[in-house]
Amino acid sequence: PLVLGIETSCDETGIGIVRGRRLLSNTIASSMDEHARYGGVVPEVAARAHLEALQPAIEQALAEAQVGLDDLDAIAVTSGPGLAGALMVGVGAAKGLAVSLDKPLYAVNHLVGHIAADILTSADHESEPLEYPTIALLVSGGHTSLLHVRDLTTDVELLGETVDDAAGEAFDKVARLLGLPYPGGPQIDRAAVGGDPRAIRFPRGLSKASDLARHRYDFSFSGLKTAVARWIERAEAAGQDIPTADVAASFREAVVDVLVTKALAACEDRGVPRLLLGGGVIANRRLREVALERAEAAGVTVRIPPLTLCTDNGAMIAGLAAELITGGRDASTLGFGADSTLPVTQIQVSPA
Ligand code: ATP
Ligand code: MG
Ligand code: FE
Repeated sequence: PLVLGIETSCDETGIGIVRGRRLLSNTIASSMDEHARYGGVVPEVAARAHLEALQPAIEQALAEAQVGLDDLDAIAVTSGPGLAGALMVGVGAAKGLAVSLDKPLYAVNHLVGHIAADILTSADHESEPLEYPTIALLVSGGHTSLLHVRDLTTDVELLGETVDDAAGEAFDKVARLLGLPYPGGPQIDRAAVGGDPRAIRFPRGLSKASDLARHRYDFSFSGLKTAVARWIERAEAAGQDIPTADVAASFREAVVDVLVTKALAACEDRGVPRLLLGGGVIANRRLREVALERAEAAGVTVRIPPLTLCTDNGAMIAGLAAELITGGRDASTLGFGADSTLPVTQIQVSPA
């Protein structure tokens, strides 16, 4: 099926077009720059930016895919989770398109979309079908989730998630502590070059035996952020220069260590020798390196989609809907809205 997907859950306005698993176009307009001076995404600003970016993004995606609106078999849209006001812009636009074109509309889960990003094949990336079951680790500015995926379209189980900050958010906050601009992830990656990851032993959240009993697959990054803040304060009070490279490398190591340790623990516990990675934080070189190294040692194969498909985009939303259609699922009825806390187990919203 030829599907156009609309993604507006955070600060990217993503329009993607797929034919089945084949990626035809993927247009992304980001309002990231507008949020930079606030140090994080401002919901009201993001919603307004989506409204302005949607129409030109749709036109560009259609032109690049060399298809017209009439050719489409279906429209897909992110219903949640995400920022309510931002989601509403995409949901409204999708409903308008579906009704005016008289096409079926599939309202889908953003997080499951991140998994679907991994099955798309393009000119420069040939993708194999997913093998089930697989453990999935999704890490972005808004989410840190560990999933057990038995089937992308029917059975996704939430094993654990962050109890406070998302991993990307931790990068953004620690970058700010180090006087680095937003978004912090790439900045910390760069600042860590030449730094010693063992210079400072920062805490690994929810990793003590007493925490593991209840939070084996959960994450916590706010204590780590506070530990970095205290360390910098103490160094400043002592009149020392801040060794930015060592702090950045040690902080990054703490995040990466806990992400990879818990993901591989899930693989082992569940007897699943496959790990899929997704979300914007996968752009982190150290995370990919450590995940690949330790997975290999554990006999686990790792899948990482191309980085352009790791960050929020419309193609993954279209790709998920195409899978639902191929699986024979009916479209969503139009009564659905934006659901900022949509659980990952709800793959499609209001199916007929
Ligand atoms: P959502 O949570 O809904 O997916 P988002 O826009 O916050 O939304 P992404 O666009 O997927 O998420 O990712 C952005 C996040 O990824 C930011 O927090 C950013 O700091 C982080 N990030 C980007 N590159 C890197 C990197 N090299 N290392 C670590 N974090 C990174
Ligand atoms: Mg983003
Ligand atoms: Fe996302």
